[in-house]
Amino acid sequence: LIRVDAQPRVTRAAALQWARQHTDRLDARLLLEFICQCRQAALIADPDVLLTAAQWPHYQALVMRRAAGEPLAYLVGEAGFYGLNLAVTPDVLVPRPETEDLVAWALELMQGLFAPQIADLGTGSGAIALALAQARPNARVLAVDISPAALSVATVNRDRLGLDNVALCCASWFDGWVVPGGLDLIVSNPPYIPATDPHLGGDGVRYEPLLALTDGADGLNAYRALAAGVSAHLKPGGWLLVEHGHDQSAAVAGLWQAAGLDPVMARQDLSGNPRMTAGQRPEAST
Ligand code: GLN
Repeated sequence: LIRVDAQPRVTRAAALQWARQHTDRLDARLLLEFICQCRQAALIADPDVLLTAAQWPHYQALVMRRAAGEPLAYLVGEAGFYGLNLAVTPDVLVPRPETEDLVAWALELMQGLFAPQIADLGTGSGAIALALAQARPNARVLAVDISPAALSVATVNRDRLGLDNVALCCASWFDGWVVPGGLDLIVSNPPYIPATDPHLGGDGVRYEPLLALTDGADGLNAYRALAAGVSAHLKPGGWLLVEHGHDQSAAVAGLWQAAGLDPVMARQDLSGNPRMTAGQRPEAST
């Protein structure tokens, strides 16, 4: 008996060449690594290995979904962030490289504190909370999100990383929880895109949870909620640190100042736009 494959078999090299008509070289390669469950070195070493009868149609389907705009992270179910490999689903925002700068700044602000108490509000996949907890084993980190689905992704990530200094809490901003003694750092990458911004319909972004992207209003509601929690949740000397849009720096600084934070400082992203703002609760705060 002669068996005939329904689809012609192709080599890894031929599959890559086909994919590059539809998507860029890097995504084509990363999807092939995912399908073949191997690293780039193996693809280069053995370009003539045939994809199995199951792998080739699976690869074609993923390449076409990527070509239609689905984020690579959702297709492969993971994303790298601050040296961590995180599970990612369409219930959470795909971690962005610029948010790694927020983690780096948070770590600078916590330097010199032996066992800082930290809360990450709107944690999503847990990216910020877990990166901080991993870098500072003595820190106690609370990861808060309003979405139970997002929290279960964050929980999977915490458990995979084996971090025992992270607690998770389902809440809207500060509703219904308090850390006794107060926090040394409140950090957040909240939904900040204004509801009318066409960016919400853009490549990749339109597959992400709206709840994580926009407040459905002017994009500043999260910052108002965060500023309102300063006196009840931040220790004197503690910091409120956020990521924001490229044109929101003045508005966020205004909210921080009105909340009594001093000093208030901004930092730029790699394109030179102010994208993060930090404010400190004065030591002698009333
Ligand atoms: N930086 C994201 C974007 O521009 C938005 C993230 C957010 O709203 N927190 O797609």
